[in-house]
Amino acid sequence: MVAFQGDVSEHVHAMERALGSEGSVVAVRSMGTVPDCDGIVLPGGESTTISRHLARTGVGDEIQVAARSGVPIMATCAGLIVISKEIVEETRFEPLRLLNVRVMRNAFGSQRESFEADLKVEGFDSPYRAVFIRAPAIVGWHDDVDILARIEDMAVAVRQENLMGLAFHPELTGDLRFHEIFLDMI
Ligand code: GLN
Repeated sequence: MVAFQGDVSEHVHAMERALGSEGSVVAVRSMGTVPDCDGIVLPGGESTTISRHLARTGVGDEIQVAARSGVPIMATCAGLIVISKEIVEETRFEPLRLLNVRVMRNAFGSQRESFEADLKVEGFDSPYRAVFIRAPAIVGWHDDVDILARIEDMAVAVRQENLMGLAFHPELTGDLRFHEIFLDMI
């Protein structure tokens, strides 16, 4: 669990519930931990702040190495922005360029700063209630990216091999179906 900033504790609790006794969650704040992890979660928060910490500590480089060697990554909201290949607007940080998508920050505008939506998700037999908070959206993607859920013509849940990117906050609802996909990837 990348734990520099954002809604880290909610993510830790949700992942611990999803894991049961099958494993444990460790907080990553410096180099040396990522190489021992079987999966990596990048929580939501503020993408500029998270990216600066990733660059300053070297953890960003470790995540790139792990992702390229096939370690599963779940990146949500700001985390999704951080792992994307391209960001529509100019930013003061370099994304990790792992997920072959183009993201737009705050894509739903300030009028809809925060909202919930029932998503029709590929592979789920009932809708998934998703919480969006100043959420990004995926406005472009490469062929190797599978779209799991959309809102209008934008993607809000995607998977590219070992990488899962979610524009919403799966840690804030009791529904752990995305966590289960992630744990199945491990
Ligand atoms: N808008 C935030 C950003 O650009 C992301 C919001 C979130 O993670 N809830 O970093």
